[in-house]
Amino acid sequence: MRTITVLLAFAASLPAQHPTTSFKTAQGELKLTAIRHASFMLEAGGQVLHCDPWSQGNYTGVPQADLILITDTHGDHLDLKALALVRKASSIIIASPDAAAKIEGAKAIRNGETTQAGPWHIEAVPMYNIKRGPAEGKVFHVKGQGNGYIITYAGLRLYNAGDTEGTPEMRALKNIDVALIPMNLPYTMPPEEAADAVKAFKPKVAIPFHYRGADLSVFEKALAGSGVEARILDWYK
Ligand SMILES: [Zn+2]
Repeated sequence: MRTITVLLAFAASLPAQHPTTSFKTAQGELKLTAIRHASFMLEAGGQVLHCDPWSQGNYTGVPQADLILITDTHGDHLDLKALALVRKASSIIIASPDAAAKIEGAKAIRNGETTQAGPWHIEAVPMYNIKRGPAEGKVFHVKGQGNGYIITYAGLRLYNAGDTEGTPEMRALKNIDVALIPMNLPYTMPPEEAADAVKAFKPKVAIPFHYRGADLSVFEKALAGSGVEARILDWYK
């Protein structure tokens, strides 16, 4: 009995096992760790970036952030409890204006603005619903409120689309290496719409995230032969 208790205590303290993938840059490897839903970590050159940390993710043993990005105020993106876990005294926090107003010490940037934090160049881009919302005439995400981000590290451009549909701004993006694309209903878009938008701006790699409940095989099939690699990670492990 004592052995079992000790083993259970040991297991609970083990670092979280999250799926990872990596990309080559001009300055070494950039590693992406899928934590949960829209929450992920990037590591490169000894620097750690967290995006939208959320308490539903397991942060045991996960390193704290040099830079934290927050896209929006919704609970799965702005979670002060999870933010406190990944934040250290020196963390820089960049957020959409509404989110920044709720976070001590955060820097607000708006759609279209850019900033530099250490080796990371950050550009805030629109994320919004064109048609889907909680009621007739309303949308879940209003244009200009939340930020998607283009994160550039050593020339590699990674696009976090945020909670969005396939907007004209997304479709017009250029030179994206890696795109994190949401696909869940009713808040963002279905996989077939996501694939259609991805084919318009042709990132090298498209990674579904924020997809709970969606059939990813629809996305994969739609991208087959398009020249865009669909890279599937389990964000709900
Ligand atoms: Zn969300």
